[in-house]
Amino acid sequence: MASLGDNHLAEAWARVRARLLAEVGEVEYRTWLKQVTLSGLNGDELVVTLPTRFLRDWVNKEYGELITAFWQAENGAVRRVEFRTAPAAARGNAPSLAEPAAAPLTAPPAAAKPEGSSAPLDPRFTFETFVVGKPNEFAYACARRVAEAPASAGFNPLFLYGGVGLGKTHLMHAIAWELSTKQPGRAPVSVAYMSAEKFMYRFINALRSQSTLEFKNELRSVDVLMIDDLQFLIGKDNTQEEFFHTFNALVDAGKQIVVSADKSPSDLSGLEDRLRTRLGCGMVADLHATTFELRYSILEAKAQRAGVDVAPKVLEFLARKITSNNRELEGALNRLVAHANLFNRPLTLETAHEVLHDVLKAHDRKISIQEIQKRVCEHYNIRIAEMSSARRARNIARPRQVAMYLAKQLTSKSLPDIGRHFGDRDHTTVMHAVNRITQLIAEDAAFAEDVELLKRTLEN
Ligand code: ADP
Ligand code: MG
Repeated sequence: MASLGDNHLAEAWARVRARLLAEVGEVEYRTWLKQVTLSGLNGDELVVTLPTRFLRDWVNKEYGELITAFWQAENGAVRRVEFRTAPAAARGNAPSLAEPAAAPLTAPPAAAKPEGSSAPLDPRFTFETFVVGKPNEFAYACARRVAEAPASAGFNPLFLYGGVGLGKTHLMHAIAWELSTKQPGRAPVSVAYMSAEKFMYRFINALRSQSTLEFKNELRSVDVLMIDDLQFLIGKDNTQEEFFHTFNALVDAGKQIVVSADKSPSDLSGLEDRLRTRLGCGMVADLHATTFELRYSILEAKAQRAGVDVAPKVLEFLARKITSNNRELEGALNRLVAHANLFNRPLTLETAHEVLHDVLKAHDRKISIQEIQKRVCEHYNIRIAEMSSARRARNIARPRQVAMYLAKQLTSKSLPDIGRHFGDRDHTTVMHAVNRITQLIAEDAAFAEDVELLKRTLEN
């Protein structure tokens, strides 16, 4: 076996490590790959070791191909990578995947206090601070209901989904706050809230320290289990399996489950079918993209709570310009307020422009007319050339009008400008399109939903 003192091997190993880190990202790298140790080269077989059987199997299954591919790129003579277990003590000073200074992830010492079931809750995320509007009223009502009467028929599990920054975590914390606050006439409720990522870490740690039974028992003893950002479990088969069993055990025992994700259960491809099916069995509530009205109300509420006076004009400006999500909206407001405090100046439209210059630019840049046309054509399955063509058949003309309408809504281009992008049409044609689509949206709910969907995918 080629020795580890072999400089070539050690250098190649360092490069493979660097590529792995770049490929999987720091979190996964630290969790899984850092503990891979190179043993040596045995003919055309490269031998690596891991401290436990579980880790060996996991890393082999999840990362085996990647590690092999990177090794082959370094050294064509390597045909395969063999994963073995080696107890830590026997691993000697072999170069491990860990950077020299970093401590390896180890199981918590036996004497350490067991971790609480729940991750800390953000004190700002309560029902009182959640602003309700059309896009989130259904999700809000479901969350309220679960907080009032956990495990009611039809609401278990509660599955909240929606894009980034639309309030999923906020609602989950709100439920957890509400339930964990003692209330007269109700038995205390034990709640465990954690991200899916945290769930995975805790599960893995339990496996490592051979305390899975404690882990299982702890989770199965709560009244309400909440797992945030479930999409994180995609591709993490073992953790999914564990979650599935916990889920079933709790539901069977009449306990409440609340889950959030960025997509609906049916769209979460990569989750096991039986898990997706069960997730969709209770109440599924969608947090829709924000509207101008909701954004305005959120800003108003936040400004009021922060005790600052912001002119309606400024709020309106922000609500119109920052449409991506509530997190960004809040960030923009915070920046304005900080700026105003710092310079002791009133918040005017001019200051807003100035302070948020970069944010606004990013937003303006975001959507181009070409992008809108492309997306609309994909949606209606017509050729992009039809956007500029003279054809007036309804199946072509209507999508073209939708694209013009969206161009008016989502960009700051003028009507003549928009017209130019559509085969040099006149600004009155664009105006007519905008009016026609506005009218259709008001009359036809299915059509309105279609346009809203297009708008939402463009804004994200
Ligand atoms: P998600 O988990 O869906 O990505 P969050 O719940 O973390 O989003 O929300 C992002 C930020 O926006 C948080 O600061 C949250 O308080 C705020 N936010 C989202 N929706 C609302 C709302 N309806 N009312 C008040 N604040 C909101
Ligand atoms: Mg979240």
